[in-house]
Amino acid sequence: MPRRPCPGTQDAIGPAAPHPSRDPRDPRTGTTMHALDQARLRALFVNVSQRERAAIPMPGIPDPDWANLEYLGWRDAKRPRAGYLVAEVDGEPVGIVLAQVEQPPRARPQCAWCDDVTLPNDVVGFSARRAGAAGKRGDSVGTLACARFECSVNVRRQPTIAYVGFDVHAAVERRIRSLAEHVEAFARAVRDGR
Ligand SMILES: [Zn+2]
Repeated sequence: MPRRPCPGTQDAIGPAAPHPSRDPRDPRTGTTMHALDQARLRALFVNVSQRERAAIPMPGIPDPDWANLEYLGWRDAKRPRAGYLVAEVDGEPVGIVLAQVEQPPRARPQCAWCDDVTLPNDVVGFSARRAGAAGKRGDSVGTLACARFECSVNVRRQPTIAYVGFDVHAAVERRIRSLAEHVEAFARAVRDGR
């Protein structure tokens, strides 16, 4: 399936530095999103220093409902600007620290991940430092996303547009796939540093 660029992605220039977590033999990533303990979860984060990694608060979700999640995202009351994302890239979990940024005011900001135009929640701007050397130079990737990472719930809501013969189930399935692709493209851009 051809990859589409992540909507809302701001391109930054610079070659990627190889990151340890991209080595498939790396035991830290020899896991799936279905069985993440805290140490492994922490080790997944690609765009942080060792010190920042140690300070990542763990999600208050002891047993995520993976069947209904395209990614795991959480925020922490002690760091109101920070966001934490774990998404799959080529079947491997990748962790990303995000920073909420000020966006120019828009009438209806739209989440670039779930693409919902009738969102019940706030949409905010996030910026993620790229992994490796690109990130050290200050390169980052930006996106608009649901403020509390409500995307997986949003795409499962019944479409508001419905008519006789409209396949609601297929529409929801399409939105779930689309969300997974958008988040994967974003995580890939951060991980690969380009
Ligand atoms: Zn969303």
